[in-house]
Amino acid sequence: MVDALKLKIKTLPFGTHTVECHVDESFFNLDEQNEVRRADVDVTVQVTRKSENTYRLEISCHGTVTTACDRCLDDLDLPVDVDYRLNVEQMGTELDDSNDELLIVPSDWRELDAAPLVRDTVLLAMPMTHCHENEEDCNPDVLDVLDSHRAEAVPDGDDDQQSETTGTDPRWEALKKLKEQ
Ligand SMILES: [Zn+2]
Repeated sequence: MVDALKLKIKTLPFGTHTVECHVDESFFNLDEQNEVRRADVDVTVQVTRKSENTYRLEISCHGTVTTACDRCLDDLDLPVDVDYRLNVEQMGTELDDSNDELLIVPSDWRELDAAPLVRDTVLLAMPMTHCHENEEDCNPDVLDVLDSHRAEAVPDGDDDQQSETTGTDPRWEALKKLKEQ
């Protein structure tokens, strides 16, 4: 998708090379689980070929990701400012990404797509819960409705995501009514 991130590792000259690109929300929203509404992120990948089979990647991402506030569901801008470094070794026939610091890719790969690494670097750096810092910054209309439905709402916790997709969460029903008014 982002061709610049497809690193031609097999034919890469020894030494350090820099790849720069810009990614938007389409880069992150590969599945419905991610709630990236907008993204504006500059990505720099420095790839150093250290030997025939070893490389070092230094990924830097800077910009903004807009997601939903957990409290009021309005847009929430989160700054992105994250670096990730990892070593890559080509050996064998199996991909092994179980180690955060060393990625093992099959020795016959000519290309390494750094896009999934960049995506994870940004998404994993996002806080688990994200709300407007001050409750006053949240959408007051939504908070009112949520308050009035608190008694029937599902308990906070892991159910949230599932409920959002099924649309049975009473808070969503409440919001729907709010929009219809
Ligand atoms: Zn909010």
